[in-house]
Amino acid sequence: MIEKKLKKYFGYSNFRPLQKEVITHVLSGRDALVVMPTGGGKSLLFQLPALMRDGVTIVISPLISLMKDQVDSLTANGIQATMFNSSIDTQKLRQREVASLHGEYKLIYLAPERLANPHVRTWLGKLNITSFAIDEAHCISQWGHDFRPDYRNLKLFRKDFPQIPIIALTASATASVQSDIIRELELHNHKTFVSSFYRDNLHITVTSKSGANAKILRLIKNCDGESCIVYCFSRKETEELSEFLNVHDIPANAYHAGLSPEDRHEVQDAFVRDEITVVTATVAFGMGIDKPDVRLVIHKTFPKTIEGYYQEIGRAGRDGLPAEVVMLYSAGDKVKLDFFLQQMEDSQRRISEETKIKEVMDYAQSRICRWKWMTAYFGQIGLEDCEQCDVCKSVKDTEDATEIVQKILSCVIKTGNAFGKGHIIKVLRGSREKGILQREHHNLSVHGIAKQYSAQQIGEYFTHLIALGFVAKGTTEYDTYRITARGAEFLNKREIIELPKIKNEIAKASLTKGATIKDKDYDVEIFQKLRELRREIADENGVPAFMVFGDVSLRAMAREMPTTLDEFVCIPGVGSKKLQDYGQQFTRLLSEMR
Ligand code: ADP
Repeated sequence: MIEKKLKKYFGYSNFRPLQKEVITHVLSGRDALVVMPTGGGKSLLFQLPALMRDGVTIVISPLISLMKDQVDSLTANGIQATMFNSSIDTQKLRQREVASLHGEYKLIYLAPERLANPHVRTWLGKLNITSFAIDEAHCISQWGHDFRPDYRNLKLFRKDFPQIPIIALTASATASVQSDIIRELELHNHKTFVSSFYRDNLHITVTSKSGANAKILRLIKNCDGESCIVYCFSRKETEELSEFLNVHDIPANAYHAGLSPEDRHEVQDAFVRDEITVVTATVAFGMGIDKPDVRLVIHKTFPKTIEGYYQEIGRAGRDGLPAEVVMLYSAGDKVKLDFFLQQMEDSQRRISEETKIKEVMDYAQSRICRWKWMTAYFGQIGLEDCEQCDVCKSVKDTEDATEIVQKILSCVIKTGNAFGKGHIIKVLRGSREKGILQREHHNLSVHGIAKQYSAQQIGEYFTHLIALGFVAKGTTEYDTYRITARGAEFLNKREIIELPKIKNEIAKASLTKGATIKDKDYDVEIFQKLRELRREIADENGVPAFMVFGDVSLRAMAREMPTTLDEFVCIPGVGSKKLQDYGQQFTRLLSEMR
């Protein structure tokens, strides 16, 4: 039954991991918190249930542009949806209100600030609401990286509509942010679903920054005109790089906070409509776009936090097709960031930002599988080496690490399972800093027992221990670690452990040659023709190309060459509305190409 609706409305034959479990849970009428990475397919989790029930689902979303994209793509799939936000004039809002009271919508998108208005609450009270979906739910938490005071209005849902189930969704939430969301929204009888942070279609490389522009050019050329984003340090850098790319015949534009809102909008629009292939941007870019077919994300500069980095690289390959992610690393960038930090007056904030930057350094310099490192950072254990990142691809030796692992675990225990990685490292290296002396940690037997290792090296071993599940983060907002049952077992049973040899050097990976993107199992010429047709249709209808069909669908068409409507409906992404709207045009083109 739900599979039928999935094909009819969205054109997909299978669920992605966790989707079916969450949808079945939601349909049982209970609350849910879903933590799923970008591109995991969160929207379907409330859109599909909305179609299975009488009444309307209210969706809270913080960004107008994302709301618009979602409403447009639902409409393209023949689903009645609308939105209420500050970009809509009063008359239209009134019309939509009336239509909603007649039950004309299955989904209504609402900006969180609208809930402060008593009129809006009265209106909501008159609707037949089946559920509330809270997108970007981490915005409700002060511990999250994107706190939005308007999200506090959502407390009203539980108060005004105690019986209506809530589904909260986010792409990143630490344990403390998760408990904050549950508390603030008063989720009850709920279930938390956390899907893996590992995105197996993203191939990560960290490499040195020397010859940056030439490297960037080569990577972009490998993408054959598909979409790329390059994150830069400054406005000036974004402009210089886009000029450099233009000189090499690559349609690129800069995007940064110094542009007027109109100019920014124009760049974003041109990118979404495939008029430019590359955006050179400061981190401000990407929040409001949902482009599924970005094939390459480069960091020409050092990201300031792992959370931000994860979000930025998450903009690549949302359609599940292979994409490249490259960080160009230089110690010089760290110096620039240090300078920036020194200017900060708020010392509390400076320390917190410094810690975050150190984590990024640790990531860049580490010789642990990039995905293993990243998933361990987010508290996920047990990931096998990805075999696709620069570290996995370079030759790895292992060594007996039993002794150092025992020392680290003992130190975690002796300091009371209550400290962060930095403190543990200092104790092991015999530091006599104030923080150590005050707590009398210089008197512990573990003080100074790993002096021969650098802080960086111990840090890497520590990351392995997180990935192995020997230690885990506590649930406070501070990043403290405690030993787990598995870690205790390792010590008690005096197990032996081999780990990859830790070197103390920056990754010197050579760039992958975009092989993953280049391995094409479909006819490239036909694919390009299909892209042209898609672009024409999109321009006629004034929508982004990917809303007509995503690259997954076009590649399948170029591979399978469907020439009848019966064959065409088997292509992923072709539901009944799109079959009706575009089936003829695409099958005609494909018949001509046979
Ligand atoms: P998120 O909100 O988690 O970032 P989206 O809901 O935007 O992810 O989905 C990402 C992409 O995956 C979209 O292009 C969407 O159409 C596609 N998608 C979602 N579910 C499926 C599925 N079951 N099969 C194939 N593609 C899917």
